[in-house]
Amino acid sequence: MVSLQDVAKELNVAVVGGGYAGMTAAVELAARGISVTVYESAQQLGGRARAVRYNDTQLDNGQHLLLGCYRETLRIIGMVGGDIKQDFLCLPLQLELHNQFSLKAPRLPAPMHLLVAFLKAHGLGWNERFKAARFMLALQKMQFHLPQDMTVNALLDLYQQDHNLKLKLWEPLCIAALNTPIHKASAQVMLNVLRDALNRKRADSDMLLPRLDFSALFPDRAAAFVVQRDGQVFMSEGAELITVNELGVAITTATGVHRHSHVICAAPPVVTAKLLRPIAALQASVAQIDALEHQPIYTLYLQYPPQVQLPGPMLGLHQRYSQWLFDKGRIAGQRGLIASVISAEGIHQDLSQGGLANKVIAELREEFGITETPQWYKVIAEKRATFCCSPNLSRPNQVTALPQILLAGDYTAGDYPATLEGAVMSGVRCAAAIR
Ligand SMILES: Cc1cc2nc3c(=O)[nH]c(=O)nc-3n(C[C@H](O)[C@H](O)[C@H](O)COP(=O)(O)OP(=O)(O)OC[C@H]3O[C@@H](n4cnc5c(N)ncnc54)[C@H](O)[C@@H]3O)c2cc1C
Repeated sequence: MVSLQDVAKELNVAVVGGGYAGMTAAVELAARGISVTVYESAQQLGGRARAVRYNDTQLDNGQHLLLGCYRETLRIIGMVGGDIKQDFLCLPLQLELHNQFSLKAPRLPAPMHLLVAFLKAHGLGWNERFKAARFMLALQKMQFHLPQDMTVNALLDLYQQDHNLKLKLWEPLCIAALNTPIHKASAQVMLNVLRDALNRKRADSDMLLPRLDFSALFPDRAAAFVVQRDGQVFMSEGAELITVNELGVAITTATGVHRHSHVICAAPPVVTAKLLRPIAALQASVAQIDALEHQPIYTLYLQYPPQVQLPGPMLGLHQRYSQWLFDKGRIAGQRGLIASVISAEGIHQDLSQGGLANKVIAELREEFGITETPQWYKVIAEKRATFCCSPNLSRPNQVTALPQILLAGDYTAGDYPATLEGAVMSGVRCAAAIR
């Protein structure tokens, strides 16, 4: 009889792409004794959530925020040696738009914490607070499930969430969670996030801000985990071609042709479509990927003198270019470093990098009285930061028409928008499908 160990020995899996999805799949396989090789085209791991070094300062490709409900992400970080208490600054749910709006969840069990937060929110009239609380109760009653998907804006109109509520509460939440404007965003995906973050345990809505960079937080530890278990991780070695036959797959990289039993393609969607396009059996997956649209995220880092601080580690601005500001001094000990995040499409894309920096510097002066001049700034514009999370989107499944080829990535089928949790869950699913 063939044992499970014998089957595991036969498997020899390639993972193309060392972002959060690919490294999760690699860790899950290596942990079960399955031979795994990661091919990453860049010089470092992490993909869209990777460390960037600039002017001797450790930055990230973009400031990220995790939620307490990102269970799989937190589990996999723990599995490779991360310590959630040490690695993150954990803040109870709070949405603060400086001088305009403030919602803080008290330490009460869910969903009471949220109802009280709505009723005590500053910056909304009583009528608006009741409308928001009533909306949440209605969502709970329907178990956060819509009979038919629609845009977030249409859902808000249906539940009489007026202009002020949209501007101060739902629009910033939707853009932060889905990176898609409310008139384009899927209400069902938004409800999936609200269900997981707001409706179960109070800690699910905690906001987790990493104290270390995004390569160090998981992918670098994951690589060490894989190598310790006899796996291999190659950087600067991208897949150029994938071919398949009944015996397995062959991956061509700059160093030659490598044969494997399976490949988990965890490259970004545009690259994945290019690699799979020559494979006739996978045209349905390729067509789904081709149909995806994308949304940008801009992160502007400003290095001020060390004494410059924001009033808190994270706060929003109302109707400004900067949507969210992060004080990296308070979060990670990088004193004077401020990150301004601008998610989704908008008028900021019409500005030059210098023009955008000037706008943000002026906002910091006007809102917080920061008159110092930054020593430097760095704009990181990710034009294809995430897929555009529109209603009824058809996303490709992790399991394809060919059993030897699987797809991992934040854009693949799942409940979540393009997030670390979506990426990690896809990697877990691919590894489970192979096992
Ligand atoms: C600026 C920004 C801010 C964000 N903020 C948040 C946030 O606050 N919270 C959150 O949850 N999510 C956030 N996200 C989304 C999150 O970063 C992504 O969902 C996640 O990192 C996607 O991981 P992935 O592994 O699916 O893809 P990727 O990270 O894109 O990984 C793909 C990997 O494949 C590699 N690759 C490309 N071509 C090849 C090839 N030919 N061969 C081999 N390898 C190849 C790439 O170099 C990359 O390492 C943000 C994204 C951006 C860009």
